[in-house]
Amino acid sequence: MTHRLYQGIPGVIDASESLRTRSLIADGYPLTALHEADKLHEECGVVAIYGHPQAAREAYLALYALQHRGQESAGIATADGQHLANIKGMGLVSEIFTDDVLSKLPGHLAIGHTRYSTTGDSALLNAQPIRVDSTKGLIAIAHNGNLVNLGNLRASLERDGAYFQTTSDSEIIVQLIAHSRSGTLVDCIADSLSQVEGAFSIVMMTRDRIFAARDPRGFRPLSMGRMKNAEGPDSIVFASESCAFDLLRAEYIRDVLPGELVMVSQDGVTSRQYATGLPQSSCVFEHVYFARPDSRIFGRWVQESRDEMGRQLARESGVPADVVVPVPDSGVTAALGYAEEAGLPFRMGLIRNHYVGRTFIEPEQRVRDFGVRLKLNPVHNLLAGKRVILIDDSIIRGTTSRKIVRMVRGAGATEVHLRISCPPTISPCFYGVDTPSKNELIAANHSVEEIRQYIEADTLAYLSLDGLLASVRDEQKTGYCTACYTGNYPTQWVDVEDILPAAVTS
Ligand code: SF4
Repeated sequence: MTHRLYQGIPGVIDASESLRTRSLIADGYPLTALHEADKLHEECGVVAIYGHPQAAREAYLALYALQHRGQESAGIATADGQHLANIKGMGLVSEIFTDDVLSKLPGHLAIGHTRYSTTGDSALLNAQPIRVDSTKGLIAIAHNGNLVNLGNLRASLERDGAYFQTTSDSEIIVQLIAHSRSGTLVDCIADSLSQVEGAFSIVMMTRDRIFAARDPRGFRPLSMGRMKNAEGPDSIVFASESCAFDLLRAEYIRDVLPGELVMVSQDGVTSRQYATGLPQSSCVFEHVYFARPDSRIFGRWVQESRDEMGRQLARESGVPADVVVPVPDSGVTAALGYAEEAGLPFRMGLIRNHYVGRTFIEPEQRVRDFGVRLKLNPVHNLLAGKRVILIDDSIIRGTTSRKIVRMVRGAGATEVHLRISCPPTISPCFYGVDTPSKNELIAANHSVEEIRQYIEADTLAYLSLDGLLASVRDEQKTGYCTACYTGNYPTQWVDVEDILPAAVTS
């Protein structure tokens, strides 16, 4: 365990920067200098199908259910025992994979990926799955997460003659497989995975086999399921979240374990632990925000965790009020828990427009600050004259929270009490979540009272760390990463300069 990750990194906020930011707060943030999308971005979603006559269509459905984990690009690779096809594109799953496109992906094996870029640039080149013709044969790979020692690995592979086609983490794993001197392919994969550090849930495919693996600390989720086939053996399915199984009518079997490599072939399912002994550190923010509430991850239903976060929040920081209102959609489940625990009515006092997409590029948008109003609209008759408890899942830069508080007050609320269903976000993530640099995280540089003043709420409270950990408890006593709330990173010293946002390293 180390705290060193943050020491000595160029650009990390120091006292003088903190003071400068404080004065900006006092003057009011120069909003043009700040990112408008004041939310952490999703990571990626992966799926794999073995033994289904229409594997590409099943992968498509699974990716559709995982669209919330990345909307930038998507891809599906299939194999029929002889050939390996791969199609990927920029945009949403449903935009890329029409009937016509899916018909070009034959085979009973498939892997798929939906991506939000975390490392590598966002070009189509880095969309996944990546197909590499290596010394070990054709391999397609897709992964969710971030490798944190990729700089060293890439340099040493290049010294060994590796030629990289992309800047994506995934290709490093394939190159490590290609350069491994182990005997069988599965040995080479295990050898490769044991050399990379960081967060990864991976699916891989050759012409006739599927592989699925999680990093030794189990940062990202990956579940295994089974689909009944009318004729022949069951199909085996892997997906980042179990909600994908529901659309496939697949039955959840279990999670792929941290440090486990599962192989599916015509001989059935085999598994090995390629790494043992590291404490588990699953991403607690999956339960707070990323994963869908209808998914079971890390052995626990996300809905149960969020409901408990809301209840715990009500116990820790209850305040007299008339109504509990979520910031939709991610704040809804915690708000339901809060309202029930507090004995207050739950009301959808803010309505989200689900059709706001990346394509809203009217020139007027730059002139008129639609901002949050484009996405959220208050229900005036539910808010007017009410003392409102507003439930959200995070405050990143604070800009959006301030607009929402103003919106609720503008609709006639007499008091606005903001409650956040996790602790203050004080450190960036290096494990696959696109967080801004520390000097942009409002809670890294300001007290709760200063943030309250900035967002103009009557009161502000966050869930305590103990309260969060109690809310995500599970039967398996899973360990969680809480680094973005504590600054205690579970990996050793790493090449952080490689993955820091450009604004910090420049
Ligand atoms: S730092 Fe935060 S977002 Fe990143 S893996 Fe840890 S808990 Fe998840």
